[in-house]
Amino acid sequence: MVCPCYDEAEVIRSFYDKLRSVLNTIEGLTYEIIFVDDGSADDTLSILNSIAGEDPRVLVCSPSRNFGHQIALTAGLDYASGDAVIMMDTDLQHPPDLIPEMVQKWRAGYDIVSGVRDESVGTSWFKNVTSNGFYTILNMLSRTHIPTGVADFNLLSRPVYEVLRGMRERHRFVRGMISWLGFKRAFVYYQACERPAGRSKYTLYKMMTMATDAVFSFSSTPLLVATRIGIVITLLGFIYLLWIISKAVFTDSLVVGWASLIAVTLLLGGCQLLFIGLIGQYLARVFDEAKGRPIYILKQAPPRPAGRELELEPGRDRYRPD
Ligand code: UDP
Ligand code: MG
Repeated sequence: MVCPCYDEAEVIRSFYDKLRSVLNTIEGLTYEIIFVDDGSADDTLSILNSIAGEDPRVLVCSPSRNFGHQIALTAGLDYASGDAVIMMDTDLQHPPDLIPEMVQKWRAGYDIVSGVRDESVGTSWFKNVTSNGFYTILNMLSRTHIPTGVADFNLLSRPVYEVLRGMRERHRFVRGMISWLGFKRAFVYYQACERPAGRSKYTLYKMMTMATDAVFSFSSTPLLVATRIGIVITLLGFIYLLWIISKAVFTDSLVVGWASLIAVTLLLGGCQLLFIGLIGQYLARVFDEAKGRPIYILKQAPPRPAGRELELEPGRDRYRPD
C-alpha cells in the first residue's frame, strides 16, 4: 500500500484502522503500508510514527517539504517491494472496502486495477464539471486515452510498478503515465463520499498545475498549433494575392500600395508561423527524448541467447520479466 498524506491528522488514524481491518480480511495476503507524509504542517507525521511504532507493517517516509500528491505517490512507490502495490488517498474518499475486489481482479490476472469514481455523488458539481471537461480536452489532445473518473486509486502488479518507477520525468501525472503503460487493465467502480474530516488539499492552483502537467506531458499538440495556423494564413494570403493581381490586371479600381502590402504581410506572417511550428516539431521530439520513457514495454519475453544480452538499463529502455 502506498498512501500519501498531507495535513491529514484528523483522519489518518481512522483511515489506518479501516484499512488494516479490510486488509486483514483478505485471505493469503501479506502486506505493508507505506505512508508518505508530504511535508505536513500538522501532527500527521507524529501520528504516523506512533502507528509505525505499534505496527511493524507500517513504514513512514517523509519528504523534506510539501512536494505535491503526485511526487508523494512516486516517493512511496520507490519503497514498494511487494508482488503488487495499491496507491490510494488517505482521506477515506477512496473506500478501503474496494480493495478485496481489486486484489481479486489482480489474482485473476489483471496487471492494473483502477478505481473509477462514479462522479454523480459525493463531489461538488464544480469538481464534476471541471474534471469531465478536463478529461475530454486532454483526450482530444493526447494519444494516450485517460479514462474519465480515474483517480490515483490503482493496484499495480510488480512488472507494472517497476516500469513506472523507471520513468523519472519531473512533471508527473501519474494516472496518465499508468494509462500510457498499457498492460491488462480492469476497472472497479466506487462512489466517492464526502471527506469525513479535513479539507481538500487540491486547491484551484494545485488543480491547474496538475492539468498543465497533464496536457504538456501527454500532448505536443499545442506546439503544433502554430504550423496549422501558419498553413491557413499562408494559403489565405496567397489566395488574396491572386485576387488582387487579377483585380489589378482586369480592373483599375485598385488603391495603389495597400493591397500588395497586406498580401505580403499575410504571406510573411504565415511563413513565420509555419517555421515556428517546424521548430515546435523538433522541440516536441527533444521533449520526448528528455522524458526518457521506455521506448516499449514487454509483458512477455523469450530468453535471449547466451552472450547476446542487451545491455540496457532495466525499466528505462525496456522491461523484461524474469
Ligand atoms: N496530498 C498530498 N500532497 C498534497 C496534496 C494532497 O500528499 O500536496 C494527498 C492528500 O493527503 C490525500 C490525497 O493526496 O490523501 C488527495 O488529496 P485531496 O483529498 O486533498 O484531494 P481531492 O480528493 O480533494 O481531489
Ligand atoms: Mg480527497
